[in-house]
Amino acid sequence: MKIEFFKHNIEQDDIKRATDVLNSIFLTTGQVVSEFENSFAAYLKAQHAIGVTSCTAALHLSLLAYGIGRGDEVITTPMSFCATSNSILHAGATPVFVDVEKETGNINAELIEAAITKTTKAIMPVHLYGQMCNMQKIRTIADKYSLVIIEDAAHAIEAERDGVRVGELAETACFSFYATKNITSGEGGTVTTSSSEKAEIIRMLRLHGIDKSALDRYTKIYRHWDMPVLGWKYNMDNIQAALLIGQLQRIEELWSQRVRIWKIYEDAFKDIKGIEILKTVSNSKHARHLFTILVSPEKRDEILHKLQKRGIGVAVNYRPIHLLKYYRETFGYKEGDFPVAEDIGKRTVSLPLYPRLDNTEVCYVIESFKKVLKN
Ligand SMILES: *Cc1c(COP(=O)(O)O)cnc(C)c1O
Repeated sequence: MKIEFFKHNIEQDDIKRATDVLNSIFLTTGQVVSEFENSFAAYLKAQHAIGVTSCTAALHLSLLAYGIGRGDEVITTPMSFCATSNSILHAGATPVFVDVEKETGNINAELIEAAITKTTKAIMPVHLYGQMCNMQKIRTIADKYSLVIIEDAAHAIEAERDGVRVGELAETACFSFYATKNITSGEGGTVTTSSSEKAEIIRMLRLHGIDKSALDRYTKIYRHWDMPVLGWKYNMDNIQAALLIGQLQRIEELWSQRVRIWKIYEDAFKDIKGIEILKTVSNSKHARHLFTILVSPEKRDEILHKLQKRGIGVAVNYRPIHLLKYYRETFGYKEGDFPVAEDIGKRTVSLPLYPRLDNTEVCYVIESFKKVLKN
């Protein structure tokens, strides 16, 4: 049996939409991107959505839009993909890590205040595996110290906690449509914000900082464009947007299918000794992006390899960022700096979780995991 770690959910209708774009004159950022941005903003009850080429770009432009750069510090979590803190470095600022909660793997809001200095400008929380951080608490801290919140919501489009959606309490939220995310266009991302002023800046920054888009130049009477600021080349194109529109319409259905698989996993693993599943906090909607199990650190790598040998795709989300070579060498981080994140990093195993996983495959994963754990 061969069980992929992930399979996307692109259907014939999505391919048809992308083909329609390919058969049209206009491939780059145009009407189809606007249509997707409007639907995405509506789904999240956000004022504005700006389509970009990745979540990394979304995070980078969010920082730039709020004037965060050289000399500034941004508080974030070491338990994430390196894109999170790399975006802070791209902006010229310095990431400051705060350890995570043992129960959820999310940034520990109790530890944030102690990490704030005179140069702290923002907090960048990550909703790990699809579970929202304690945003009410983080907002209170941000308000007390006049900090901006930029959410990395790459795992958590569907999430909610205490009646608050992702992005709702933040200056911006950033999303990924990378190949293994809940909805995907291969590569892609979006920023949401409630600020019209910042939305306009981000729109400019995603296309070199020029004040007219290709669509303006194509559809309207010719006018010279200018470049008031230096921007980047991060604009989402019509082909990517075409692939996403239908997936967004099905997003809740896709989510309930992952919930179904998650329940089967949880029931199967809950009574097994020596392993641990992170907690789902009460009064929340978990986006169920990644299913992870914590095993003993001595056996973790062996378990990964044995599962792979049985044809099961696995992943490690994540070995903490501060221990990656570049971060160690540049910032002098070492083992022991963020013990909770390190503990998760040594023990975590991610199992396949996606709607196209059928019951037979789920059973095979469970049986294999149990067998591998025993010997
Ligand atoms: C995937 C991911 C990103 C990066 O997304 P890209 O679209 O590939 O830039 C950032 N943060 C987290 C938590 C991710 O999982």
